[in-house]
Amino acid sequence: MKLIDGKKIAREIQQEIAEKVVQIHKRKPGLAFILVGNHPASQTYVRAKQKACASTGIVSTLRSFPSSIKQNELIEQIHLLNQDETIDGILVQLPLPLHIHEWAIMTAIAPEKDVDGFHPINMGKLLLGDESGFLPCTPNGIKTLLHRYHIPISGKKVVIVGRSNIVGKPLAAMLMQKKDDCNATVTVAHSKSEYLTEITREADILIAAVGSPHFINETMVRKGVVIIDVGINRLTDQTLVGDVDFQKIAPIASAITPVPGGVGPMTIAMLLKNTFISYTTSIPKAPKKTEL
Ligand code: NAP
Repeated sequence: MKLIDGKKIAREIQQEIAEKVVQIHKRKPGLAFILVGNHPASQTYVRAKQKACASTGIVSTLRSFPSSIKQNELIEQIHLLNQDETIDGILVQLPLPLHIHEWAIMTAIAPEKDVDGFHPINMGKLLLGDESGFLPCTPNGIKTLLHRYHIPISGKKVVIVGRSNIVGKPLAAMLMQKKDDCNATVTVAHSKSEYLTEITREADILIAAVGSPHFINETMVRKGVVIIDVGINRLTDQTLVGDVDFQKIAPIASAITPVPGGVGPMTIAMLLKNTFISYTTSIPKAPKKTEL
C-alpha cells in the first residue's frame, strides 16, 4: 500500500511557487481574506492559509468584520477589493452569518479574483472544459495528488461519495472532462443512493466527501482500490479523522490518503497556486462591479 502524502506534495508546490515569487521584483502577488464573525474554526483556517501565503512570499491581508455586518456593507467591501490593483485573489471564509446570503457574496467577487473557484462563471467554465477559469481548490488538489503519484485517471471508474458544490460536483465535472489527464468514468453517490456498497465496490478510485467519521469501511471497497479521503471530522476526544476507516482499508488499498496530511494541505496549496496564476494571468483585473 502506498501512502499518498498530501503534506509533502503541498510543500513541494509551495516551494515551487516561492521560487517564482522570489524572482518578482515589482509588486508581489496579493491575497485578501474576508472573515466575518468570530467562529474559532474559521479563524484557525484563515490563520493557516495566511501562514502558507507568508511561506511563499504571497502578501496576504485580512479584513475582519463583526457578525452584525449587513450584506450590502460586505458586498461594498468586496467591490473595493475587486478594484484594488494590489489584490489578485479574494477569499471569503465560510460559513457566513445566516442573514448574509452566500450566493450574493460569492457572485460579488470578480471572477478574475475568485481564487476559491466558487463563482458561477468559474464553475461554468470548469463544466465546459474552458481552462481560463479558476479551478476549485479541493477538487484541484485531489487531481494534482493523483497526478503527482502517477495514478492513472483516464478510463478508470471513479466513485465520489458526496455531491456538495465545493467538492463532489466540481470534482466529478473535472475528472470526466475529455482530456488526456481526465477521461474518468465518474459515478457520484449521495445520501439517497441505493445499493451504495455495490457502487463503491466498483471503484478503481474511491473519493469520500461525506463528513461522517469512518463512513467507508472495508466491506465497501475492492482489493487494490485507490482511496482519497476528503473528510475532516473531529471526534469527541478532539482526534481528527476522515470519512474512511483508514486502519481497516489501508491493507486492502493500493494507495490511500491519510487524515490529517492528505487532501487538506493540498487545498491550501491550490489556493496559493490560483493566486499566483491570477497574478501572472493577462486577464485584465479591474472590473468596476460584477455584473451577476
Ligand atoms: P456536505 O456539503 O455536507 O456534503 C456531504 C455529502 O455527503 C452530501 O452530498 C450528502 O448527500 C452525502 N452524504 C451524507 N450522508 C450520506 C450517506 N449516508 N450516504 C451517502 N452519502 C451521504 O460536505 P462537504 O462540504 O462536501 O464536505 C465533506 C467532508 O469533506 C467534510 O468532512 C468536510 O469537512 C470535508 N472537507 C475537507 C476539505 C479539505 O480541504 N480537506 C475541503 C472541503 C470539505 P446529500 O447531498 O444527499 O445530502
